[in-house]
Amino acid sequence: MNKAIFLDRDGVVNKPCYHDELGIYSPRTVDELIIFPYAKEACRQLKKLGYQLIVVSNQPGVAFGTIREEDLAEITARIQSEIPEIDAFYYCRHHPAHTGECDCRKPKDGLFRQAAEKRGVNLSASIMIGDNLSDILAAKGCACTILLADTRIDLLSIMEAKKVFPDYIAKDLSHAASIVQDINQNNNEEHTSRCDRCWRLGHPHAADVRKNS
Ligand SMILES: [Mg+2]
Ligand SMILES: [Zn+2]
Repeated sequence: MNKAIFLDRDGVVNKPCYHDELGIYSPRTVDELIIFPYAKEACRQLKKLGYQLIVVSNQPGVAFGTIREEDLAEITARIQSEIPEIDAFYYCRHHPAHTGECDCRKPKDGLFRQAAEKRGVNLSASIMIGDNLSDILAAKGCACTILLADTRIDLLSIMEAKKVFPDYIAKDLSHAASIVQDINQNNNEEHTSRCDRCWRLGHPHAADVRKNS
């Protein structure tokens, strides 16, 4: 099994947290962790297609001191126990302001390369499922297929402005799993034309979908 699904964690597997003053942030303790209800079934489907499932996530809170290493471990263990299909977790615990530059903080692709080397993953046969520009850029760096699991209009405009695009766009991880299934059956074009929730960029319906999302 040398192909992998690289999963971003916050916003893909679990809900990002929100606070009026802090804005959006990663869960700091297991009490703040809310795993999306569809995540387990989606991971089960992806696993059945023969992929290793590898979480790749920036956790700069460790460098900032807002997330304790033991809480991060507890959060990981909780996700692992609810979704045993996930094979491994790779975190970047750095932040340039505190720990200097590293080669693993997305948009760099160091986490992907570490995992690929350790677990014998063929990156070009692998797929990244993320929800941010940095996920897209990191995956581009190592030639993974990119599936954006988010249709936030602000994100779509940023992508247009920067001319950085994923290969596929899905509503969420559950929808992403169904697209990966189609990609595996070489059915992706058909999926795009029959699925009213997703589109491959450049598809004629893209503009309408963007307007409505
Ligand atoms: Mg995310
Ligand atoms: Zn790092």
